[in-house]
Amino acid sequence: MCAFTCTSRSITFKALKTTYEWSYDPGRCTFCGRCVDVCKSHAIAQQAKRPPLYSDPAALKLFYTLPRKPPPGAAPKPGNGGTP
Ligand code: SF4
Repeated sequence: MCAFTCTSRSITFKALKTTYEWSYDPGRCTFCGRCVDVCKSHAIAQQAKRPPLYSDPAALKLFYTLPRKPPPGAAPKPGNGGTP
């Protein structure tokens, strides 16, 4: 929801085959707070302090890659020792 709500495209989210990729670019952020408002799990928060000074607009961009877990009850794949 945060990436969908962010009109400046500061937050991006991709659901790939085996991972989720999430990024945040403060250089594009307008600090409107909509991403915080829509986050029902409170995973995002805003702080009053300013980010450090930077000259490269992408210098502060953050990337997170999380493994995608198989859905509950997924059938194990043959030949991998029963791991789904
Ligand atoms: S605070 Fe920044 S990241 Fe969040 S919705 Fe607004 S522009 Fe996007």
